[in-house]
Amino acid sequence: MAIDLEAARAMLENRPKSSSGGDGDLRWVSFPKEGEMKIRFLPPAKESSLPGRIINTHWNLLDDDRSYKKCLCFKTFKEECPICNMLELYNDRINTDDWQASARSYINVLVLENSEYDSTLPYILGSSDYNLYWLLENIIDPDIGDITDPINGHNVTFTRKTPNGAFDRKISLKTTPIADSEERISNILNNIFDLSKIWKAPDDEYLIYAKKLAKNTEKVIKERLLKLTQENQESDIDEQENKKEDDKKESNNNSTINSKAPKGAPDCFGIDWKEDLKKCQVCPHEFLCQNVKEEEK
Ligand SMILES: [Zn+2]
Repeated sequence: MAIDLEAARAMLENRPKSSSGGDGDLRWVSFPKEGEMKIRFLPPAKESSLPGRIINTHWNLLDDDRSYKKCLCFKTFKEECPICNMLELYNDRINTDDWQASARSYINVLVLENSEYDSTLPYILGSSDYNLYWLLENIIDPDIGDITDPINGHNVTFTRKTPNGAFDRKISLKTTPIADSEERISNILNNIFDLSKIWKAPDDEYLIYAKKLAKNTEKVIKERLLKLTQENQESDIDEQENKKEDDKKESNNNSTINSKAPKGAPDCFGIDWKEDLKKCQVCPHEFLCQNVKEEEK
C-alpha cells in the first residue's frame, strides 16, 4: 500500500521534543553501536498507512518488590497516562527525567549484506524516534520520494564512526527492487509486520498495573523530595548562623515554627499547610511544611 503523505506530514507536525514492545515470532534488529549497516526501509503493512510507529515508554518504575519495571506511556495511544499525570505533580520541584517517557521508533526493514540477518525477511528496526522522522521527511520530499517502494525504492547505509556516535545516513543513488523475482518480492511484502498489532492500546488490567507502578514510584519521589528539602534547610541553618546581628532583629518577628522555614518560604510555612489539597502549591516546601506542622501537633 502507498504511504499516505498527509498522514506522514501530520505525524511530523505532531512530533514530540524528545521504549518497547511485545515478542513471539517477531524478528528484531538494532543498529550496531559502531560501524555500518545497510538496510532497506519497507512499505507499511497492508492495514497501515505509515511505514513505522513511535512508542513511548516509561522506565525505572518501581514494582511492589522494588524491582524496576517499564511501562508503555498511554499517550502513545492518545490516552491519559497515569504515570505522566503523577510526574506532572512533581515536575516543578524535582528532576523527573529518570521516569519521563522516552520515544523509540519501530520500522520494518530488510537488513542487507549482513550474514547475521536473513535479507529475504523483514525485521523490526528499533531505534531513536528521529530515524522515523528522518524517513518521513525524505518520503515527503519531492526530490527524493518514497524510498520504501518495493520496486523503485532505495537502500540506505547507516554509519557510526565512533561508539554510539551520530549516524551518517546515505541513500543509495540508484533504485533497487527489494528482491530479484516477483515471487520473492511478494513473499517479503506478505511478511511485513503489522506494527499496530504489536503494541495494542492498554486494557483495564494494564491500567491497574500502570497505576500501581505510578504509586510505588511516587513514594520514592516523595522521599527524595523530603531529603532535598531537609538538605536545603540544613544549609540554610548554617547560613543563618553566620548572619550578622542586624538580621536577627528581623527574624524575631517570626514564630518558632517559621524559624524552621527554608529560605524563601512564605509566612504560612509550618502553620497553614493545605491538608485538604493533594498539593499545596503555595510554595515548593510542602513536604517539609507538612512535617513541621505535624511535629507541632
Ligand atoms: Zn506517560
